[in-house]
Amino acid sequence: MSHGPEKLFLSDFFGKGITMNTDSCIFCKIIQKKIPSQVVYEDDVSFAFQDLHPQAPVHILIVPKKHIQDIHAVTLQDRELIGHLFFVAKTIASQKNLDAQGYRMVINNGEGAGQSVFHVHLHLLSGRHFGWPPG
Ligand code: 5GP
Ligand code: ZN
Repeated sequence: MSHGPEKLFLSDFFGKGITMNTDSCIFCKIIQKKIPSQVVYEDDVSFAFQDLHPQAPVHILIVPKKHIQDIHAVTLQDRELIGHLFFVAKTIASQKNLDAQGYRMVINNGEGAGQSVFHVHLHLLSGRHFGWPPG
């Protein structure tokens, strides 16, 4: 019996259905198109849209369709899904030719770190210089 890392497949999360929190979560409403947004990308498990208050010339949010409140709530089963968000962000960055100027991906976890919407989301930012350390 192998004791290596357990293998996860797309079907592990594609097949399980997507749980949403449509009553109280603004991003679940956006994913379901009950609230309009400027959609950048969509597939079975993820959704990307323009940030309403962009902090850079490019500011796109990439979210899982599954309602997960923050990174801290991510389970072992969600890890392929979270990896997929980065792949989607990278693909959008490639399509927009952001590679030469650079881009930043940010996930704020918890109010103290600046999280204001409690449905996990990856910020993709580009088009200006970004300082370090972040504010
Ligand atoms: P956080 O502060 O939680 O890391 O990021 C939440 C982001 O969601 C913010 O950048 C904010 O501008 C964006 N946002 C909040 N409400 C809406 C909305 O209704 N539509 C869109 N497109 N973005 C939103
Ligand atoms: Zn949600």
